[in-house]
Amino acid sequence: MRVIDQRNLPDDRPASMDEQGRRVFIFPASVSGFWRRYRTIVEIFLIIFFLVLPWIKIGGHQALLLNIGDRQFSIFGLTFWAHDAPLIFFILAFLTIGLAFVTAVWGRIWCGWGCPQTVFIDGVFRRFEYWIIGSHIQQRNLAKVPWSIKKFFKLSVLWTLFLIASLIIAHSFLAYFVGADRLVEMTQHNPTENWTIFVVMGFITAVILFDFGWFREQFCIIMCPYGRFQSVLMDDDSVTVSYDPVRGEPRKGQVESGEQQGDCIDCYKCVAVCPTGIDIREGLQLECIGCTACIDACDEVMEKIDKPKGLIRYATGNCLKGIRSKFLTPRVGIYSVLLIAVVSALIFFVSQRQDIVVTVLRGKDNPYQVVQNNGQEQVINHFKLQIKNQTFDELNVQMALPKTWTDKKVELVSQTETIALEGGMNSTIHIFIKFPPSVTGASGSENIKLDFIDTNNDRTRIEENVKLVGPKSI
Ligand code: SF4
Ligand code: SF4
Repeated sequence: MRVIDQRNLPDDRPASMDEQGRRVFIFPASVSGFWRRYRTIVEIFLIIFFLVLPWIKIGGHQALLLNIGDRQFSIFGLTFWAHDAPLIFFILAFLTIGLAFVTAVWGRIWCGWGCPQTVFIDGVFRRFEYWIIGSHIQQRNLAKVPWSIKKFFKLSVLWTLFLIASLIIAHSFLAYFVGADRLVEMTQHNPTENWTIFVVMGFITAVILFDFGWFREQFCIIMCPYGRFQSVLMDDDSVTVSYDPVRGEPRKGQVESGEQQGDCIDCYKCVAVCPTGIDIREGLQLECIGCTACIDACDEVMEKIDKPKGLIRYATGNCLKGIRSKFLTPRVGIYSVLLIAVVSALIFFVSQRQDIVVTVLRGKDNPYQVVQNNGQEQVINHFKLQIKNQTFDELNVQMALPKTWTDKKVELVSQTETIALEGGMNSTIHIFIKFPPSVTGASGSENIKLDFIDTNNDRTRIEENVKLVGPKSI
């Protein structure tokens, strides 16, 4: 097994591969300190949040459900269907622009603190390694020694834990896409009854096991599209994990004894803890995921040699050059305006969204018919209604004319009194509206309202305009 030599890092390729592109394994040292403590708290919170969220219900629906198969989406109480494309577009736009904004201001804070890749590798998989095998030196030694019963036993226990963790993560991940209730139901049946989901589950588990257990931060360096884009999203006003060369250089060993030396004692502690195998003293690099491990490692060294902490710290490029950093750069301004526009559009669409959508179409026959009823003339208009239930629940929709119009003897004739609509379903029904010619009067037309009431709760009430037409009376 090829193992990283942290004092001789390559400058023409990532440290996790050799000249032939073969894997070089990195065993980062564990670290303690200010940022480590906060990252542990954030990781615990995010892992619990990820595992628990599919089981939380808001308004009777899963808090976050992205059921692509059934085209059902539920996001913190808001329910959408695939035909709500504008809303889904604005949510995706919000997430994309939000991430660009966060990167422009705080660099790769998402990678170091929020990305599931980092959170699970750092918060679960690497902890198992420290627990079962020991320190990074013990891990490196075990990797180098030939196979023995002891090595086989330790690695078997480790990979069994990796597999259990991968299965738990895969089940929770799938719960977001098929629904937690359905997932529980499926686990109680023979896998052959839901073999597609079973295969998908096996595949996701294998991918997680491979990625979090073996591939690790190579994903961030080689495959993650956001990781590759981050250099164009940041500038010298973005806050990143940075080494202060003004304070640190010339480092120990680069000056003759007696000459003025910087604070860096060239101990390589910051390199030893780096999970991507880089030397932060070489400046901002694509491989840096902003995990803050090197900050804590260096602070510990500074404390020991009685120098101020912060030789490696969160800082902007400008700040390191002695130039005052600006928060509101043109880039941040543009992202802010776009974010405000997207959030406003999202709020507008959500506020306009109705549980029931009704489209009123005039019947294809004559615009109106005049009939005799008990010696009285009556006009009849024919309409086709398309009614869509935009919720996930079954609705019973009842139509009614407001009293203003029933008093004027306007009458609704429908093939059914209430329309039962499954969640997300459409229904088309034909209705006739009878009225005396006086209603449309001399103009030959009149706009009236038609009420649609959800009989389950009597709350969902929408009004639709209906234009009645009849003969022009003198
Ligand atoms: S350079 Fe520092 S912050 Fe960047 S990945 Fe390495 S240890 Fe983490
Ligand atoms: S941990 Fe600090 S002192 Fe040690 S090599 Fe890194 S920057 Fe220099």
